[in-house]
Amino acid sequence: MLVDEDGERVELDAFEATLLLELTRGLEPATVSACPGCRSRVVAVVAFLDLLRDALAHERALELTELAEEAPTLHLYVADLASDCEHHGWRDPLSDEWADAFAELPPVGRLAP
Ligand SMILES: [Zn+2]
Repeated sequence: MLVDEDGERVELDAFEATLLLELTRGLEPATVSACPGCRSRVVAVVAFLDLLRDALAHERALELTELAEEAPTLHLYVADLASDCEHHGWRDPLSDEWADAFAELPPVGRLAP
């Protein structure tokens, strides 16, 4: 799942998430901070948009591009939903920013259309 500072989000299923990571070299070139225990990370919007240009075959690429283009800050936040990691090893200050982005998410099912 990817969210921006406003809580706008794109949720990928396991297959889509794996494919995205394959097409974007694991998002590594765009990553500014990552949890050492899972695939959760903070990515830079500009570099992420560059990576998406190589991932146009991905069926959610358009949605992801829109999310990144409309992001209010320079960062997007990626949560590894397949992991039950609690990110205790992630001590970068950006991990707090990451946690805040998810803490403010409206409950699932109550999003505006
Ligand atoms: Zn983690």
